[in-house]
Amino acid sequence: MSKALTSSLLGMDLGEFSVLVSEAGEPAYRAKQIMEAVYRHRVESVDEIATLPQVFRERLEHTGVTLGAARIEKKFGSVDGTVRYLITFADGQSVETVWMPEGDGGEAGDGSEAGETAERLADIPGPGTSGAKAEESEPIAALKRCATQNLRSQDRHSQEHASSGRSTICISSQVGCAVDCQFCLTALLGVKRNLTAGEIVGQVCAVLKDQRVSPPEDRINLVFMGMGEPFLNYENFVTIRPKLAISLNASNDALRTRLMPLNKKWNLDMLIAAAREFPLRTREWITFEYVLLGGVNDAPENAREVAELLRGMRCKVNLIALNPGPGIDFTTPSAERVTAFQNILRGAGTPAFVRRPRGRDIYAACGQLKRTVEAATSPEPQVQSISRVQQ
Ligand code: SF4
Repeated sequence: MSKALTSSLLGMDLGEFSVLVSEAGEPAYRAKQIMEAVYRHRVESVDEIATLPQVFRERLEHTGVTLGAARIEKKFGSVDGTVRYLITFADGQSVETVWMPEGDGGEAGDGSEAGETAERLADIPGPGTSGAKAEESEPIAALKRCATQNLRSQDRHSQEHASSGRSTICISSQVGCAVDCQFCLTALLGVKRNLTAGEIVGQVCAVLKDQRVSPPEDRINLVFMGMGEPFLNYENFVTIRPKLAISLNASNDALRTRLMPLNKKWNLDMLIAAAREFPLRTREWITFEYVLLGGVNDAPENAREVAELLRGMRCKVNLIALNPGPGIDFTTPSAERVTAFQNILRGAGTPAFVRRPRGRDIYAACGQLKRTVEAATSPEPQVQSISRVQQ
């Protein structure tokens, strides 16, 4: 049996669907039928692919092909419109995925503030240690293409979304995380496993379906800033073809090592040197994410050090005031400190944008929802460190 025939349909591209169809002895056009069913209609099981003959559907299921759909287990809505999902996969593992209508208040991917202008469709940024904005992978592109054809049947709810600006889906790349950032609740979960490409795309499908929106008419920005470090799940992450963003979070090595122990292995000199060598396309910028922790890394001197580190680089900085949570020994800085930090960067010629906090009333800190649910449903200790990145 080929690799394709042992995988879930979600996450496959047209080439893989073609292999699957060919190995089953079915005509080539069946590949496009599967593509449309998975990414346009977002069916939730192989049996729901009504365009395929029943006998072919049964054969697929007997050979181990599943849709791989993600299931929304819990859902919390914030007064600010943010919705936090706990999404469960076939093996029972779950991750957090967040819907933020009208963006997250940060940059829009083209250097503008979110919501400032009409931007390109479906930019897809990245993660904790490495945020990122992705060009469309084949599965993501398929979602957009198929959705385009679906637009005429969209209802008014969806039309309203279409006119309300770009929304953001914050997706996870791993169950838990091994990076051990000291200000992050997900770090306290440890890492359990990587998500497959299908599970990554499955989060997007589940949220789009629940929110009843469809790119490209509904402008969607995807960010890998949920649970996990995408670059530690490289093979599945690159399926999304990300643009680079880097979590900086500190202005010098001593501070960064304290906040992100991974800095002992790859210090700031190495990180900045690599960033300076990163090949950028026209109009592309490197994004640095900087979580501001009150009284820790938010001083004017820190801002000046950051400006010096990034001097001359085609980059921008997203400033994120900490989302506090139980078990995290840091505080949120004042709005004045955040603004002062931003102004110093801008004064030094580095574009800096402040992401507005979202959903603080709904277990907003990454990892808090999963930890809370696990604590409520499991007799076992809620914090289990399965493994840690080797320092
Ligand atoms: S520990 Fe948290 S902030 Fe750090 S990379 Fe992992 S998920 Fe992101």
